[in-house]
Amino acid sequence: MNASELVKKVFFIEILKGLALTVKHLVSPPVTRQYPLEKREPVPGARGLHALVRDAETGKARCVGCGLCAAMCPSQCIHIYTSEGENHEKIVDRYEVEVLRCVYCALCVEACPYAALVLTDHFEYSGYTRAEFYYTKDMLLENWDKYMSGNKGIDYIKHFWRPRSADFEKKVEQQAPEKIEK
Ligand code: SF4
Ligand code: SF4
Repeated sequence: MNASELVKKVFFIEILKGLALTVKHLVSPPVTRQYPLEKREPVPGARGLHALVRDAETGKARCVGCGLCAAMCPSQCIHIYTSEGENHEKIVDRYEVEVLRCVYCALCVEACPYAALVLTDHFEYSGYTRAEFYYTKDMLLENWDKYMSGNKGIDYIKHFWRPRSADFEKKVEQQAPEKIEK
């Protein structure tokens, strides 16, 4: 045992250090939040309750019913029912999400080529029945109005929606194959 170790042992240095740390935490302010009285600021881009984007110009859902989000969903909790319109356009009759089965992976959001679906930052929802968590198209549009209205929704799409338009800035020119002379 060298001199420094001896001094540490004799004066219980490590024990004193531990006690000092305990005292420091006793007098410092608590870090526990008194939820729900004290709440954190919502985190932008947090994966909360689903919403269908309401187009600002038409006031209707942006969704075209392509089904990519449902195909991508690992929980298979998105159900889309479409029909053919008068001009042979696709009409989204029903768009439904079984929220209780969702794992909030956001693959549906990433898969959507029209930025028509988002996960809002609203995560404090509860209910007494499973039925309350079966979100219909109207309920999903209401979620957009409630939680993503104004610039909030636009900012969300700009920052968190993939692919971003910036992803396509650099064009890679494809080389045309040379003509083979016979
Ligand atoms: S977040 Fe994931 S699990 Fe939930 S609906 Fe979208 S793809 Fe499905
Ligand atoms: S991927 Fe987008 S546009 Fe296609 S069905 Fe889903 S939400 Fe609608």
